[in-house]
Amino acid sequence: MRLSVERALLAVSVLGLALAPLVAPPFSITLLNYIGISALVALGLVLITGVGGLTSFGQAALVGVGAYTSAWATTAGGLSPWLGLALALAATGTTAWLLGAATLRLQGHFLPLSTIAWGIGIYFLFANIPGLGQHDGLRNVPAISVFGYSLASNGAIFYLIWIIVGVALRLTSNLLSSRQGRAIRGLRGGATMLASLGVNLYRIRLVIFVIAALLAATAGWLYVHMNRYVSPSPFEIRPSIEFLLMAMVGGASSIFGAVIGAATVVLLKDRLQDVLPYVSKNAAQLEIVVFSVLLIVLLQHARGGVVSLFRRWVPATPAMPRSAAEGLSRRTLPPAGTPLLEVAGVLRRFGGLVAVNDVSFAMATGEILGLIGPNGAGKSTMFNLITGALPSNAGRIVFLGTDVTRLRQDRIAALGVARTFQHVKLRPAMTLLDNVLLGTYVRTRAGFLAGALHLDRDEEARATSEAMRQLDRVGLAAQALHLAGTLPLGNQRVLEVARALAADPVLIVLDEPAAGLRLPEKEALAKLLRSLRADGISILLVEHDMEFVMGLVDRLVVMDFGTKLAEGAPAAVRANARVQEAYLGGVA
Ligand code: ADP
Ligand code: MG
Repeated sequence: MRLSVERALLAVSVLGLALAPLVAPPFSITLLNYIGISALVALGLVLITGVGGLTSFGQAALVGVGAYTSAWATTAGGLSPWLGLALALAATGTTAWLLGAATLRLQGHFLPLSTIAWGIGIYFLFANIPGLGQHDGLRNVPAISVFGYSLASNGAIFYLIWIIVGVALRLTSNLLSSRQGRAIRGLRGGATMLASLGVNLYRIRLVIFVIAALLAATAGWLYVHMNRYVSPSPFEIRPSIEFLLMAMVGGASSIFGAVIGAATVVLLKDRLQDVLPYVSKNAAQLEIVVFSVLLIVLLQHARGGVVSLFRRWVPATPAMPRSAAEGLSRRTLPPAGTPLLEVAGVLRRFGGLVAVNDVSFAMATGEILGLIGPNGAGKSTMFNLITGALPSNAGRIVFLGTDVTRLRQDRIAALGVARTFQHVKLRPAMTLLDNVLLGTYVRTRAGFLAGALHLDRDEEARATSEAMRQLDRVGLAAQALHLAGTLPLGNQRVLEVARALAADPVLIVLDEPAAGLRLPEKEALAKLLRSLRADGISILLVEHDMEFVMGLVDRLVVMDFGTKLAEGAPAAVRANARVQEAYLGGVA
């Protein structure tokens, strides 16, 4: 077993927690209980906000749905708290699902704004439904019992809380290192790249939103059966902001940061409650001010939170994941010469500008087709239309017999189209290996549950070996565990090619792959592309370097001002007078 500072710290923490109820005063145990319960909510926020980039200002309301459901079921309904938990999870999960379905397609600031709206809305429901006791809330909530042993005391429920925190941390950590976890970690930094790898972003967002809600529900359940009483006030907007603060303090993208953040905020609140009454009569208001200032300072100066400060002293040492001898199974490619892509009369406008104007061309499998033309000719736009990154305004695009004109980007990727981008789209804070593993998403199956429960280890090992093979193929295997952001731009382009290859594509679409490469690197890339063609992979390529294109492609399509100017073998296109005039400036 690998010995590390992290493991040692973890062991000490677990031991400390196990002994706490035996040695610590009851008040400390109560605080620790609040820390554990808050950490569950903060963990959900780390997942959706810190890692996934979806800010929720309504998380306390979801805690409330869990708390009220179980309180109501166990008081009015007389059910056991364990059935209450099941109902709390179901009710909160369903609520989050519906809220998510209604709001997660919102762009920019509208999504966080909508969370404020439903957060406040749910709070007012609690305060106004007579069956839930309105502002008085519900009393006489029973304690949880385990095998007939009552957890009525704070010292007893302490163990249940921290066991649940431990399990939640473990499952979340497993999930984040899995296939779906890589997609979650990729959510921040633009949607197009992930969708081009076959990821259904909306679904991923919805699932992590529901997972965070389930963590909130569990926290609400523990809270209500610990206090034996529930009222609306802990579920308004202010505690929601405190939960966000917890996620920020610990380190927005670190799951252990959730516990550190929860501890910091709960203890700070406790101190402030002692101190602030001496400073002002309006202690509660002053507390909000202190927290707001803290939040702003954190956002300005320490986005990484406590965990990133810790990382400065103890850098993470990623271990090479287990890799299987055999990679992922490959698709059977259609025989060479099969009609592959048909672009017919395609048109795309940007306002008054027609970027692609009634363009038609076709390509067959086993071919390298070059798309050339001056800057602004519409080449990248054409690629975006083919891959589904942009919808076309008219025309038809058929890929391997399927009409893909109106198909979503991730569905087109699943049919076997992989691409790179003119402006490189990588996840700089992820390793080269993880970036290439993202490419295997479309070929692998593991779901969220399999990832969280580590049932995906075989597939992960095979995907890793596949990704390593592609990294090796482009000459970057030695840097597999480096962060992608540390690579020079030329190598980042090559890394994108490896990621595209990891998808086992039928057609690979490359937008200026040789830009920024030095001559020997260009030669290596040309050699790689020829070897791909020999393997039966078809290539569609935009490139500016004429030497590079002429020696490589089977055919060329020339575009200028959005229209197709010429099409044919490289030599014929080079000799075409119109092409010389428009593109080569008459000096071919
Ligand atoms: P190329 O890749 O051949 O250099 P592009 O396809 O990037 O050309 O651009 C074609 C034209 O469309 C250019 O005039 C460009 O400014 C315009 N264009 C491209 N994308 C957009 C966009 N998202 N919004 C507005 N105009 C765009
Ligand atoms: Mg371009």
